[in-house]
Amino acid sequence: MKIRLAAPLQSDSVVDGFGIRTVIWTQGCSHNCPFCQNPSTHDFQGGKDFSVDDIKEELDHLQNQDGITLSGGDPLFQIEAVTEIASHAKKIGLNVWCYTGFTYEEILKMAEKKPIYLEFLKYVDVLVDGKYIHELQNLNLLFRGSSNQRLINVKETLKNNEIVLIPESDGIMEEFSKKEVTFI
Ligand code: SF4
Repeated sequence: MKIRLAAPLQSDSVVDGFGIRTVIWTQGCSHNCPFCQNPSTHDFQGGKDFSVDDIKEELDHLQNQDGITLSGGDPLFQIEAVTEIASHAKKIGLNVWCYTGFTYEEILKMAEKKPIYLEFLKYVDVLVDGKYIHELQNLNLLFRGSSNQRLINVKETLKNNEIVLIPESDGIMEEFSKKEVTFI
């Protein structure tokens, strides 16, 4: 299976979720949020094809990373490939964050027709959901650009059948950045 990426894997990010993370920049997004920071990732013909098996192997050899972050672009436009990657990441002990322009509720609706969306959610620890809305921009938000976007604790949300957010109290970064602390 192939996945279209905007760039090779980027390790050691500390701005794309808790801890030290490897970011997978997917190519392709049709949400067209005005003032999107990554317009070069919109074109579905842009970027380059990578083998999902090669990406998995690269993940196997990562060192000192707490998890992966699927970003883009919108990873959900390549649901089969990102599901395989997220499943593999969990198997080898990496936690998974995903940024998407879809809301959690929209993803559940999509899953009614295509159950793989729900399967994907089961491998995601934190979903940062919703389009970037420039009018709601807030530079003080943790790991997201506009206040409509949510840091969703996916496991708890699926368990409780209602949205459970990651708390944003003082010190939460330090707490969740510790390797031994898990939030899943
Ligand atoms: S969903 Fe993300 S990548 Fe797509 S247009 Fe909106 S901000 Fe840009």
